[in-house]
Amino acid sequence: MSEPLLRVSGLKKHFPVLGGLLSRQVGTVYAVDGVSFSINRGETLGLVGESGCGKSTTGRCVLRLIEPTDGEVVFDGEDVGKLGGNDLRAMRRNMQLVFQDPFASLNPRMTVGSILGEAFTIHNLASGAKEREERVAGLLVKVGLKAEHMRRYPHEFSGGQRQRIVIARALAVEPKLIVCDEPVSALDVSIQAQVINLLEDLQAELNLTYLFVAHDLSVVEHISDRVAVMYLGRIVELAKASDLYRNPQHPYTKALLSAVPVPDPRLKRNRIRLKGDVPSPMKPPSGCHFHTRCPIAQPHCAESAPELKEGAGGHFVACHLA
Ligand code: SF4
Repeated sequence: MSEPLLRVSGLKKHFPVLGGLLSRQVGTVYAVDGVSFSINRGETLGLVGESGCGKSTTGRCVLRLIEPTDGEVVFDGEDVGKLGGNDLRAMRRNMQLVFQDPFASLNPRMTVGSILGEAFTIHNLASGAKEREERVAGLLVKVGLKAEHMRRYPHEFSGGQRQRIVIARALAVEPKLIVCDEPVSALDVSIQAQVINLLEDLQAELNLTYLFVAHDLSVVEHISDRVAVMYLGRIVELAKASDLYRNPQHPYTKALLSAVPVPDPRLKRNRIRLKGDVPSPMKPPSGCHFHTRCPIAQPHCAESAPELKEGAGGHFVACHLA
């Protein structure tokens, strides 16, 4: 089997919390606390969990937009943490980010043509204005817009169209991996499906690899080959998407799935309501982080953290009782 495009091992990101007059460290946010996974070329890994579970921080550590506290990120055979200068810039070209809020990530004072053309200029990917314009036009058509849209400004587009522009900008530098950070959560449901279909078509055409971050299991179901579920900085379950949706093993995944609407009204799913809120990542519970809310927790769950263990068919679960 070939080496995965991305391998993340033991990734941690702890943020210091400063307080008081002297801005001393008064605590630590354990945003990502020992996360490991890999993504094969052309594969999509969905990374799912409630707000604050560390999924977006994981994506940013992979891209080295923030420095991890510990752990290793190997991309295309290179240890990302050891790269600097030109090597880091070259690596970044191969890993792009698509944000949740397309409006915030597009400069309102630049035309779409300038926004997309900038990427070609920075990376020396077009010689001269004519070639740049041709490539911008090609990109716009590739993401379902029109060549003449290059003369317009971001505010002249709908939310879905703006997200297509953001995707076009990511594609401009011909990346291998795109971290899609909640790329459709700000869009209407009908538009969400169109953007996800576009991402799927582009993946098939360009052999792209995606890390697809979302807070909703229903969003990642169709686009993901495998799905990892995060809770308070740790992956609690990771499996092929079909296995995870048909046969969830971890009590947290079961609860998340029970809240996903089923399209067939004859199928009834019993909603599992978890007690309490997600604890603060500044004070994660001892042992299994989920024990304070788990419907089947045992006394020893508070004492030792379960390892993420591989079961049949590459289905990983972190639970003493699974
Ligand atoms: Fe629940 Fe215990 Fe399993 Fe954690 S280890 S998910 S608390 S049963």
